[in-house]
Amino acid sequence: MSNRRPLKSLGQNFLVDGNIIDKIIHSADIKPEDCVLEIGPGRGALTGYLARKAGRLVLVEYDHALAAGLKKLYAGDPRVTVVDADILAVDLADLLKDAQGWKVVANLPYNISTAVLFRLLDVRDRLARMVLMLQKEVGDRLVAAPNCADYGVTTVLLGLWFDMRREFIVPPGCFHPSPKVDSAVLSFVPLPAPRVQVGDEAVFRRVVKGAFAMRRKTLINCLKAAELTSNTGLRGILADCGIDGQRRGETLSLDEFAALSRHFSGAAT
Ligand code: SAM
Repeated sequence: MSNRRPLKSLGQNFLVDGNIIDKIIHSADIKPEDCVLEIGPGRGALTGYLARKAGRLVLVEYDHALAAGLKKLYAGDPRVTVVDADILAVDLADLLKDAQGWKVVANLPYNISTAVLFRLLDVRDRLARMVLMLQKEVGDRLVAAPNCADYGVTTVLLGLWFDMRREFIVPPGCFHPSPKVDSAVLSFVPLPAPRVQVGDEAVFRRVVKGAFAMRRKTLINCLKAAELTSNTGLRGILADCGIDGQRRGETLSLDEFAALSRHFSGAAT
């Protein structure tokens, strides 16, 4: 495998702590019949274990030199496919189309982790479980409760479709090179149906993003700026949902966002 200096631009903080590698693999709970997607296998810290356990393994690596090394290493193993590509440009639905219940395992490059989460959200019906290493701060946001600073767009949008749990924290010394901040491993289990009915999901996303767009402004001003309906319509919807427009977006529960979204979906022009 390439020993070239890790590339900061690709978020290359390679795992070097065997105990953490074991814990991630244990948490992924790979069975011989499982199809597994690993995003950013890098120098293969997790890959060898996954290849030993899984029935099928797809690796998506954007660093051409590392992808070439992995192709060489697994050339004789028909269960392993190496895709030399940007995970944000890959057609994930197509990549995962041949099987149900994929497991996703990744120590994600931090600069694109949120974008990757949204791509995975879009293919949730193909997934059985994800175990992802994220910057701790990003993980804190995902599992936050309403009324706290960490609660935000990712909490609500991912929380609609996944049970998310922080498994453990990983300190900087477990990587080479060491990042400046702590990391966290989270597990994600997709729900068979959304946690609550939201009407049109595109509207739900607009409501949630709108509500958090200006954290210091009141909900009514945020939703006015989101232009989901007329100002009179907006006041009516807030009243129908029993939600005070003077509240801040971060005080709303998932149920309250869902109620707003259902009403806006009905009122959408
Ligand atoms: N899995 C390895 C480990 O745990 O040691 C490497 C993890 S490192 C944090 C992130 C990996 O993602 C690197 O190998 C990097 O080259 C790769 N990567 C970065 N951006 C990517 C992208 N857009 N698509 C696919 N892989 C990417």
